[in-house]
This record gives sequence, C-alpha cells and structure tokens, in this order.
Amino acid sequence: MRYEGQIYRPPSEANSLILQATIGCTYNKCTFCQSFREKKFRIRTTEELFEDLSMARRYYGHVRRIYLADANALCMPSEQLLEILSFIRKTFPECERVSTHACAQDVLNKTPEELTDLREWGMGIIYVGGESGNPEVLRLVNKGVTREELIESVHKLRAAKILSSLTFISGLGGTRLWREHAIDTGTIISEMEPDYASLLTLILEPGMPLFDDLVNGTFERLSPQQVLQETRLLIENINVKRSCVFRSNHASNYLSLRGTLPMDKEKVLNQLASAKRLKPEEFRLL
Ligand code: SF4
Repeated sequence: MRYEGQIYRPPSEANSLILQATIGCTYNKCTFCQSFREKKFRIRTTEELFEDLSMARRYYGHVRRIYLADANALCMPSEQLLEILSFIRKTFPECERVSTHACAQDVLNKTPEELTDLREWGMGIIYVGGESGNPEVLRLVNKGVTREELIESVHKLRAAKILSSLTFISGLGGTRLWREHAIDTGTIISEMEPDYASLLTLILEPGMPLFDDLVNGTFERLSPQQVLQETRLLIENINVKRSCVFRSNHASNYLSLRGTLPMDKEKVLNQLASAKRLKPEEFRLL
C-alpha cells in the first residue's frame, strides 16, 4: 500500500485495510481541525487504487473490512467509487464491509439511486462529522453545514440502507456556549437517529484558527469536569426511538462511555456519575 502524509481512521476501523482513495479534504476550513491542512486535495486515479489493492492482496490473508481515506472520499464521482467497490468485491471476496468518511454535503450531492448502488456494491457505513447540533457553534467553527443539512444527510443514508456514524465534539462551544452545544447536540441526535453517535473531546493545537481564539481570549475552553457536565446534559437530551450505539472511546476523551440508546441511557449516565479517574491531559490524543 502507498500512503501520503498522516493517515486518520475512526477507532472502529482499527483492523481495517486502509485505501487512501483521496488525498486531503475538499473543504479544509473548520477552525478546530488541521488534520489535512498540509495536503492539497486530489482524487487518486482508479489505476493507482487498483494497484494498491492488488498489492494488499499479495500481503494480507483475510481482509474483513476496508476503509477509504482521507477526509471525505464519498466526494468522489459515483462511477469511480463503483469501479473501486467492484474491484474490491472481485479481489477481496471475503470483505464484509467498505466504509468511508463524508461531509454532509457529499451525501446530499448523491442521488438516492447512487447511494443505493454504492450500498449494493458494498458501502456499508459512512462516517459524518457532525461536531455540534447548535447553529451558532456550527457557524463559529466554520463547519460550512447547517443543522438541517446534517439531519437530512443522515435520513438520506438511512433511506439507502447505509449505516450512519456521526461524531460530535465535546467542548466545541467553549464556556460561553457549552449549554446550547450540549442541548442542541442531544436533540440533533434525537432527530437524526443515526446508527452510531460518538463523542470526541476538543484538543487545540497551534496552527488551528480556534487555537488563535484561545490565545487571544475570544474562546475559553472547558475544564475536564465541565466537559463531563456538558456530556451529562447532552446525553439527557438524547431521546431516540430506534437503536443508536453511543460511545466516547476516542483517544481524545477523558472518559470512555458506551451504551445502546435508548435502553442504556440510565446506565451511561450512571457510568458518567460514578467516574473516578479521568484520562490525564497529557495522554489525550487526536
Ligand atoms: S473537520 Fe472534516 S471537513 Fe472540516 S476541515 Fe477537518 S477534515 Fe475537513
């Protein structure tokens, strides 16, 4: 396999073969993210991707899952994605699921028929960065998407029978908007009813525009105890009717939580209330 720059993948794809179908992010403007800032966006050629997959076939015995990197490979033209999925099916007949990340807009740009075709050729789950359900927080971090578009993208994935996994960021509203961020993120999860909802916790580093806000005092970050308080309010505001796996098992989190909502809501709140030890700041990672 050939990779360019730093590679990111969701925790749940830790054992997946990673195919770097695109380089970088088409958007690259969120103020809390610099994961792909050094990369100029491009789509790799189908020939290169076939070569990578053939190479991987020679080295790996059993490939159960394949993840298409980088930031939002769903932006690729559907014809090219279908060519790749078809090659994967032929080359890795044992592969049970292909996944990728998407911006909400990438989902909205696909027709229902395109999404259904992708699912029929193996695209089983799509990860979408939601970050917050609060319109003001989305605007302040320059997410480039509205609350309504986020909800619509998840409903569109469900209509195509593709699993959706949404991530949100604890602490993204700072001390000024933590309450609105918590309540509106809980209610957006309730309205979307994604199959999976995960919490990351904000980490700011030099180079991120939001880090500059921190330095000049226009953004104040939450303490670990305030993050837990925000998480409690967020979970209290999740009221889903269909099953949603909720987790905070990312390297950035102070505390690992997991449960299937709605039935485990009290259990998750109890995990939170009885937390004795939080991950030390120096062990948190992006
Ligand atoms: S959060 Fe996602 S969409 Fe925003 S800049 Fe980072 S990779 Fe791109």
